[in-house]
Amino acid sequence: MTADDPRRRVPRTDVVLADPRLASAGEHLGPELVKGAVLAAQARARAGEIPPEAVADEAVAALPRAATTLRSVLNATGVVLHTNLGRAALSAAAVDALATAASYVDVEFDVRDGSRARRGRGALTALREATPDAEDVLVVNNGAAALVLATTALAADREVVVSRGEMVEIGDGFRLPDLIESTGARLREVGTTNRTHLRDYAGAIGEQTGCVLKVHPSNFRVEGFHSEVGVRELAGLGVPVVADVGSGLLAPHPLLPDEPDARTALRAGAALVTASGDKLLGGPQAGLLLGRHDVVERLRRHPLARALRVDKLTLAALEATLRGPRTPTWQALLAEDDRMRARCERLAAEVRGEVVPSNGAVGGGGAPGMLLPGWAVALPAAYLPALRLGDPCVVGRIEKDRCLLDLRCIPEQDDQRLAQAVLAVGRAGH
Ligand SMILES: *Cc1c(COP(=O)(O)O)cnc(C)c1O
Repeated sequence: MTADDPRRRVPRTDVVLADPRLASAGEHLGPELVKGAVLAAQARARAGEIPPEAVADEAVAALPRAATTLRSVLNATGVVLHTNLGRAALSAAAVDALATAASYVDVEFDVRDGSRARRGRGALTALREATPDAEDVLVVNNGAAALVLATTALAADREVVVSRGEMVEIGDGFRLPDLIESTGARLREVGTTNRTHLRDYAGAIGEQTGCVLKVHPSNFRVEGFHSEVGVRELAGLGVPVVADVGSGLLAPHPLLPDEPDARTALRAGAALVTASGDKLLGGPQAGLLLGRHDVVERLRRHPLARALRVDKLTLAALEATLRGPRTPTWQALLAEDDRMRARCERLAAEVRGEVVPSNGAVGGGGAPGMLLPGWAVALPAAYLPALRLGDPCVVGRIEKDRCLLDLRCIPEQDDQRLAQAVLAVGRAGH
C-alpha cells in the first residue's frame, strides 16, 4: 500500500455510521443491518470497485428496505391460492387486525375484571357463528396439524379406517398416510384405488377402530370407473367420521360445485371436519376443527393441542377474515370478466402488450382441473425473469413462449404499479 493508495482513504466504520441517513435508517432497520451495508461498501472501496468518498452513498443505496428478506409480490400468475406465494392474501381488515395483535392484546385476558379469559374467544365465536352446524370449534396451526390432533386424540394405538383412493400426498412430498401413522394410529386401508364400497368400511370396523377418515383428494381428479362412499353412509356405521375437506369452504358455493364444504359434511353426520384457514376461507394459515362438542372437547383436552396452538396474530387475522369484507381470495375468484378485460386493455395500451384470453386456477390443491377463464396481457418471454427481479417483484407465467400477466389476482389499486414495473423492464431493453 502506497501513501496515496485510495484504500488508505476508506472512511472508518464509525465515521460512515454517523451519516444522518444511515443513523436514521438504524432506527427502523436496527444497527446490524445498517452496519452490514457499511462493511460491504467499505469492502468494495478497498477492492477499488468504488471511490472511498462514495462509501456512505453506496451503503445508503444498499440498505435493505425492511428488516425481513420477504419480498412483496404482485401475483400475475392467475393462480389464486399459489402455495409458493403464501396461499391466501389477507383482507385489509385482517391486516389491520394483525397490526393490533402485534402489540400487547387481551387475547387471554378479560379487561372487565382483570382475570384470565378463554384464549382467542373472539375468533372462536366468529368461527362458531360462521358454521352454525358445528356444536364446537377449535383452531390449530394448519390443516395437517388439525388432522394429526384429530387422529391422535381419537385413534392413537388404534385404527383409522381410510379408503385406498384417499391416501393422498398433499404436496412437497408430504403424505397423509405417513402423517397419520406418525401419531401412533394404525391405518386400516379399505377398498381399491378407484372403487371403495360401504361394505369395505363395514368389514374393517371393529373393536380397534378409532375413527373413519374421509379425505377429500383435493389436488387431483378421478374420472371413469370410480366410486366412493359419502359421509352420510359412513356416519351410519356407528364410529366417529372425520371429514378432511381441506379447502376451508364453509358452505357450498355455486362457483365450485365439486368442492366439499364443512356445512354439508356436518349435516351428513361427520363428527369432525378439518380444513385449512389459508385456502378458500381466504385467511391466515390455520387448521380448523369443527364438529360435535364431545369430540372437539376431547381434542382440546389432549396434551398435543397445546403444541399446535395458534398465536395471537393468527387468531386476530382469522376473526377479521370471518367477520370482515370479501377477501382478496374471493375477489379474485369472482372477478368480473368485463372488468378484468378492461383493465388488461388499459395495461396493454400502456405497455404495448396484447390482450389474450387466460385461464386462471384456484390453486392450493383446490378444484383441480377447474379453469377460471379470464384475461391477460401478453409480452415477450424475456419479460418473465426481468419482472420477477424488478421492483415491485411481478410473477407471471409462460404460455406459448410468451410472458402472460393475468390480472385476476392483482388488486385493481395495484394496476399502476404493475404498469410501471413493466415499463421499467421495457426501458431496460427487453
Ligand atoms: C391442503 C390440505 C391439507 C393440508 O392442509 P395445510 O393447511 O396445508 O396443512 C390436508 N388435507 C387436504 C384434503 C388438503 O386439501
